[in-house]
Amino acid sequence: MEPTSHKFTQNARRAIGDDRLQAALANFTTTFPKKRLDVISRLPEFDDLRDEGVAIKKHVHANLDFYLERFEARVIEQGGTVHWCRDAQEARETIFGLCRAAGAKTVTKSKSMIGEEIAINEHLEAGGIEAVETDLGEYIIQIRGESPSHILVPAIHLTGEDIADTFKEKHTQLPADRDLGEPDAILREARAVLREKFLAADVGLSGANMLIAETGSVVVVTNEGNADLVMNLPKTHIVLASIEKVMPTLEDAATILRLLARSATGQDITAYTTFATGPARRGETDGPQDFHVVLLDNGRTEMLAGEFKDMLRCIRCGACLNHCPVYASVGGHAYGWVYSGPMGKVLTPNILGAHKAADLPNASTFCGKCEEICPMRIPLPRMMRHWRERQFVSGKGAAAKGKSGLKLWAWLAKRPPLYRLAASAAAGFLRILGRGKGRIGRLPVAEGRTFQALYRENGSKEQ
Ligand code: SF4
Repeated sequence: MEPTSHKFTQNARRAIGDDRLQAALANFTTTFPKKRLDVISRLPEFDDLRDEGVAIKKHVHANLDFYLERFEARVIEQGGTVHWCRDAQEARETIFGLCRAAGAKTVTKSKSMIGEEIAINEHLEAGGIEAVETDLGEYIIQIRGESPSHILVPAIHLTGEDIADTFKEKHTQLPADRDLGEPDAILREARAVLREKFLAADVGLSGANMLIAETGSVVVVTNEGNADLVMNLPKTHIVLASIEKVMPTLEDAATILRLLARSATGQDITAYTTFATGPARRGETDGPQDFHVVLLDNGRTEMLAGEFKDMLRCIRCGACLNHCPVYASVGGHAYGWVYSGPMGKVLTPNILGAHKAADLPNASTFCGKCEEICPMRIPLPRMMRHWRERQFVSGKGAAAKGKSGLKLWAWLAKRPPLYRLAASAAAGFLRILGRGKGRIGRLPVAEGRTFQALYRENGSKEQ
């Protein structure tokens, strides 16, 4: 997907004026947060689990080379292969090469944000290989030619009516007058269409929620079970995962799983939690013949060495999106790339480069909710401030635009009589502008007198 992260302001303005999008987002701020609260209220040790999860991730990241090599050794022992890729281009070429070697015409995919990050679908399609998303939300946005608007619920920006219209437009092999008014009808149709693809696929390409160094397993969680068909039906299974996903042991993975589903969708556990270890063994009827893991760095090693390393603890639960007032107002597409919401504001500049996402760290109310609810206690507001500081120092980006304003304010603040005069003049001017309506545009105007004037007046009354 071509990033438009540098145009957040225009994207957001468009999103706020889009009535259909606003209707789709209407219940967003209540549904997931409420479910999350309900489920964690039944788990008194939830905060202890968070501490445990943070400690595990910190330990892994301090010993990342050790655990990654251990993971690779275990995968090889099980009969699989690991491919190390420095950047998106290397990962795309590696995956394409593996698909070619498998003689693939059709590749089924289960939802993978890393796949979106490296734009693997476009690359495969350009080489003549059909890539089919099998997660329902991903499938819907794929046939609409859109990008995901949420890391967990990629089609959250659409209403049921939008989806029914899309199916009617794209599934032209089916009767035009069929009824898609109920969610069940949409599901049945998607299932029937995708079943054909599952059976035809030569390669299955999945992401991974975790990689287990102890056993060489990959862990994939879904609520639809589509990942299991992607991993098991085709002859070749390729796993695409970024390097920070590695976990030392199965027990550590269990800690993260307990945090993940509760934070993400407010479930005790997701419907399907699959541990896949290598290709099918002799005599096994299920499973692929070839098993490959593509390990992607794409800027993570650099993050590990700097002030954004805490971001690598992210388990992609989406809770920070679900609780963010900015996300709830503009939806995910306004962020202009794969990662949206608070986590996107930190991650996107790290992966794409600060110049391609300069608006994002400034698109925050700094209410702090994202850090409060993040299961991995990632200090998202602090890291957004790091980006702002960099912009301020370099003189580039949205934060730098306020530099001259701040200088003027500092100059005035050192001269109290002048400051009072300027503040009274500005307040009076705003009052004149908003006369009659009490507002300028959608904003209420200042009451007319400055805080200092009111303070002096009230102070003298009290005496
Ligand atoms: S930053 Fe935290 S809350 Fe947001 S997706 Fe990552 S783990 Fe979840």
